[in-house]
Amino acid sequence: MHVFRIAVLPGDGIGPEVMGEAVRVLQRLEGDWTEAKLELSYHEAGAATYQKCGQPLPPETLEACRQADAVLLGAMGLPSVRWPDGREVTPQVDLREELDLYCGLRPVRLWDPAASPLRSERLKSIDILLIRESTEGLFWARRESQRCAEEVRDVMRISRTGSERLFHAAFLWARRRCGRVTLVDKANVLPAMAFFRQVFFDVAQQYPDVETECLYVDAAALHMVLRPESFDVMVTENMFGDILSDLGAALVGGMGLAPSADVGERHAVFQPAHGSAPDIAGKQIANPLAMILSAGMMLTWLGHPETVAAAQRLEQAVRHALAHSAERTPDLGGRLRTTQMTDLVLRALDTVESQAG
Ligand code: ATP
Repeated sequence: MHVFRIAVLPGDGIGPEVMGEAVRVLQRLEGDWTEAKLELSYHEAGAATYQKCGQPLPPETLEACRQADAVLLGAMGLPSVRWPDGREVTPQVDLREELDLYCGLRPVRLWDPAASPLRSERLKSIDILLIRESTEGLFWARRESQRCAEEVRDVMRISRTGSERLFHAAFLWARRRCGRVTLVDKANVLPAMAFFRQVFFDVAQQYPDVETECLYVDAAALHMVLRPESFDVMVTENMFGDILSDLGAALVGGMGLAPSADVGERHAVFQPAHGSAPDIAGKQIANPLAMILSAGMMLTWLGHPETVAAAQRLEQAVRHALAHSAERTPDLGGRLRTTQMTDLVLRALDTVESQAG
């Protein structure tokens, strides 16, 4: 029996609500396994934890994440809970830096064509893997900014090592997918971005079979709306990736349908792309699908034949649920409660499994 230790960090706002739903789905899937097992342990982190003990990511939680085979994270941070300088507490970003999770995977896939604000036949084929560098870039300013009474300068760090490993990951993903990588930068204005592009082409030489394209970030935003179906893998700097992943989520129906993963050489964290959504927290109307699909990404990443097969069945079930029912949570124009959306997926799993025989 292969036991996978999963550190579960429900977090703040709707985090615990959607996490409960993902765990229901995982337990349902696990029920069919004979050779693999998930061992879940729950840990505190987030804005509420900061209010309680002065630390958003307590050392014991960080250690549990280091020891785990994977981390499942709900959502963290609350607009009302801030450091003395005004920044929100963001332990999910601390975790990326602490565990060196340089590769932020933000799939942009069309689960529910009716949910997209775009109206076009071409939409059917949106399947982008947006890869966001997650340990440096402009977010480096969290650690290093120059400050005096009249001025603050935020440093964007682009290192050769950090960029090379990111680009290798992007090219390897492209090989497994459709063989195209689009670099998104601002190389026409920022020296750090010109360097980023130079490293990109250095790495590209090792992947002559992969097609490359470069776009400035402003043009990338335009082209993601005008021709989303043309992209395969997109790779970019931390801050640009933060912004474009929300654009990508909007293209396919909103934050409730956008899963994500932050992956390094040894560790990985899986969480929905959305935040803690305090405006709807406690109302039991959050869409759990982004969290459930993130748990599915974790099952794929764990790499055991049973977990990988379960992830495939889960994706089929989500598609089936959305295709065969008009019912949705309120973010998608429906009236379902959070748990009822999960019930739809669980029923669809039964159908998918019985069809598979
Ligand atoms: P962060 O900066 O932490 O990523 P954010 O400020 O971008 O967070 P979110 O918490 O992601 O904001 O929420 C943005 C909007 O999307 C809110 O109006 C919220 O209600 C909605 N939203 C986010 N996640 C969901 C969800 N799972 N189901 C329904 N609506 C959601």
